[in-house]
Amino acid sequence: MKTKSLKNLATTVLVCFATTATAGSPHWNHTEESTWWAAEDTSQQLPLKFPYATCGVGKHQSPIDLGAATLDGSKSLNKVAAQYGTDTTPVFYNSGHGVQVNTSTDYSGALKIGDESFPLIQFHFHEPSEHVIGDKKFPAELHFVHINADGRIAVLATAIDIGAENAAFQTVLNNVPHGEGERNENSGITFDPAALLPDLNPEDLDYYTFAGSLTTPPCSEGVQWYLLPKIITISSAQLEQLKGFYTNNARSPQSLNGRTVLSTQ
Ligand SMILES: [Zn+2]
Repeated sequence: MKTKSLKNLATTVLVCFATTATAGSPHWNHTEESTWWAAEDTSQQLPLKFPYATCGVGKHQSPIDLGAATLDGSKSLNKVAAQYGTDTTPVFYNSGHGVQVNTSTDYSGALKIGDESFPLIQFHFHEPSEHVIGDKKFPAELHFVHINADGRIAVLATAIDIGAENAAFQTVLNNVPHGEGERNENSGITFDPAALLPDLNPEDLDYYTFAGSLTTPPCSEGVQWYLLPKIITISSAQLEQLKGFYTNNARSPQSLNGRTVLSTQ
């Protein structure tokens, strides 16, 4: 029961992150990313007056350019397993910033990092990709967001390229509402997020990992990122459908500030 209530709390926190209409949280959009830090909450005094200040002053911001980072494949890293399974009542959600699916409160799917379990809270899509490799960008990117019992966040990310049609992605497109902030809670659809993972052993994932942040306001740091070395595909028609919801909802690469990217390979 304790785990469940913590998860409910975590869901509330993330929904607040993603909702534009929350009282006191300034509105933001992707075209103004260079000034997110300066968004004012006029109902607050300093130091709470600039709730997105970390977007500007943080030193471990996401996303990053992997082509510019120092890669280190020599360290012994935690075994990471994506243990998701079917959610019988997922919530298809138009967050106002992207296409998203929130897991239900009784969902037990999680990312296992070493001995620690990070429950899957939601997953969402960016168009184009947020992480880049030099001047190489992918058409889209998928983020699985997990929060553990201590409130620490881990994001598993995979790039999306154009190729074969993706049936699981189509289910998401067909069920997310088109109105900003709207949620579809009673679709009757069951969904296994593992259907969106690339062709890797889910019980022992290869990955690139580094310290980062949320890529949207409030840009909170302390987020551990796990980027998968394999991609998934969607068809060009599906990419157009995704753009029909949101386009250019990707933050630019942020300064590395000396960060190293560790790799299992
Ligand atoms: Zn994201």
